[in-house]
Amino acid sequence: MRFADIPGLEEAKSQLINAIRNNHVAHAQLFYGKQGSANLALALAYTAYINCQDRSEDDSCGQCSNCAKIDKLIHPDLQFVYPVSSTKSITGKNVVSSSYLKEWRTYLSANKYGALENWSSHYGAENKNANISKEESRNIVKSLSLKSFEAEYKVLIIWLPEFMHSSAANGILKILEEPPEKTLFLLVTNDYEKLLTTILSRCQLFKVPSFDDADVAQYLTHHLSMDADKAQKLAVLAEGSIKAALENVDSAEDDAHVLFRDWMRQCWTKDYTSINQANDLFFKMNKTTQKLFLQYAINMIRHSLVSQYMVDEKLKLNNEEQGFVTNFGKALTTDKLESISKELNQAAYHLDRNANVRILFMDLSLTIGRIMTAK
Ligand SMILES: [Zn+2]
Repeated sequence: MRFADIPGLEEAKSQLINAIRNNHVAHAQLFYGKQGSANLALALAYTAYINCQDRSEDDSCGQCSNCAKIDKLIHPDLQFVYPVSSTKSITGKNVVSSSYLKEWRTYLSANKYGALENWSSHYGAENKNANISKEESRNIVKSLSLKSFEAEYKVLIIWLPEFMHSSAANGILKILEEPPEKTLFLLVTNDYEKLLTTILSRCQLFKVPSFDDADVAQYLTHHLSMDADKAQKLAVLAEGSIKAALENVDSAEDDAHVLFRDWMRQCWTKDYTSINQANDLFFKMNKTTQKLFLQYAINMIRHSLVSQYMVDEKLKLNNEEQGFVTNFGKALTTDKLESISKELNQAAYHLDRNANVRILFMDLSLTIGRIMTAK
């Protein structure tokens, strides 16, 4: 993770970079930011920067062996502690971070802005009482007593220390105050007020500002190839949280699926009352959402076509969509699906040229209905 991978936050980034460049590295720091902020991402970028063998003035190189291993989360000098709870196969004293390392790596590779509930569902937590246990604090003390292997600094990132059991917190007080040389504690928290004052007093507080709307929009256009208009709208709703923005994207897609599925059914049965209601819904959408909806419909028809001759293709669809696509592909001939696709594409073309939306959508519904039921 490089600083450049995190949108915006230029001031926070240069503060961290300057501390390293000026040799003002605090051995215990608290990265405090709201849920969905860049606190964990910045801690990772900071770790890479401080250990990079070829860093520039404003970022790590992303190429050297330290960068590469930190990026893959496999660097022997970068350790993580995070809240965990028991699963079907991991119980009792084994409920410590190291037992979940494989899951943690896959989770963190894809989720730098997630919350505890995202992590818990990723590894299949059996109960909600995830914490950082006393056993964990023993492991921390043990592993930090070893010298660093390859990097200049050994870094321990404690994600969500607010879930640390008080006995665990007490267990690390001493090493937190006097860590071995070239050892850094980066505590990444959403709620520092829940931390014991004895922990707080040993850490330097670094406040991570929330993203502004432009940062969130940039993240969405860059990572999801979303068009700028839609990204901007979602960013405003997300209030500085990339996590919230990503969740909104998911639910917007769910909405599109339900609307599309019902609409296809209405066309098929020529249920004019419902088609009229769908028409109202479509009319009330803004132009961007209308376009996205038609694009979604075109994609689903294409997937239905593909499902006719490719059984196991790994499509990026959720279960419900997968089920729909398979059934739709079975119910309609290739010719019919291709005709529907053509109509949808034509509608998208006319929508772009400011056609009357009500007439366009009604006409489209009737034509699709006719294609579906033709002999
Ligand atoms: Zn590097």
